[in-house]
Amino acid sequence: MSDSERSAGPPQASSHPPEGSAGVPAGRGADALAIDVKGLSKSFNGRKVVDNVDLQVRTGTIVGFLGPNGSGKTTSMRMLCGLLTPDGGEGRCLGLDFRRQQLELKRQVGYMTQKFGLYEDLSIRENLEFVARLFELEDRARVVDEALERLGLKTREKQLAGSLSGGWKQRLALAACLLHTPKLLLLDEPTAGVDPKARREFWDQIKQLAGEGITVLVSTHYMDEAERCDELVYIAYGKVLAHGTQEELIEQVKGAKNLEDVFVELIGQAKDNFDA
Ligand code: ADP
Repeated sequence: MSDSERSAGPPQASSHPPEGSAGVPAGRGADALAIDVKGLSKSFNGRKVVDNVDLQVRTGTIVGFLGPNGSGKTTSMRMLCGLLTPDGGEGRCLGLDFRRQQLELKRQVGYMTQKFGLYEDLSIRENLEFVARLFELEDRARVVDEALERLGLKTREKQLAGSLSGGWKQRLALAACLLHTPKLLLLDEPTAGVDPKARREFWDQIKQLAGEGITVLVSTHYMDEAERCDELVYIAYGKVLAHGTQEELIEQVKGAKNLEDVFVELIGQAKDNFDA
């Protein structure tokens, strides 16, 4: 990638990174980064949809990925977990070269897609057994039992996945992506269309997982969920606009009283810049 492309930047009001030189807010150290990538880029049909993204995420934190539809969140996540080959970018996820050690990385990352990706005509248990087999896990019955217990799915284990409500489907999807005990979770709008109670329960699980040292990068359009994140990354037009804690971002964005204000202001500025 050329220097001119690199400098074709986000709006001037961009506060990325907010402090420090490594993209991690100052004073928090870059010694334990679960994600540490620079210059992540991807084009489809000649159009850059992820444009020179730098991203640093500290181990054991929950980082919210916020941005309008089509801003490049899914594409970024898919590159980070080795499902999609980037055009540019270097760096490490979980200490592994994310471009050259994709197989090792896939074994340590849990990726949950927006769309329910399990088999609707299999039961909850059958789905989990299938995923356990895909990962070639040992002691599969125990691993599946533990996942059923953890996500409160035990009493429904024989129920067909297709007959579950949105909230229960998401629980099952989370159980499936935890089976191989990943250290990093990439969750792509995991609660889209899920009712508030189920969303809250899902987030209680996420908080608990982070408490156990698992790192979470999660995209969401819900501001109450954004508030539960340790840090937020705002992205639009494939570029990172800002990265920081809720408090830092509200302070940095003029007139902002909450994360929704930050979103509206940053995305508005980006729109003016990129549509101009
Ligand atoms: P987000 O997750 O923020 O909604 P995406 O990463 O899904 O954004 O998409 C970014 C842009 O890239 C969109 O315009 C989308 O249509 C386009 N895109 C994503 N995947 C492909 C693909 N496989 N082929 C062509 N275009 C794609």
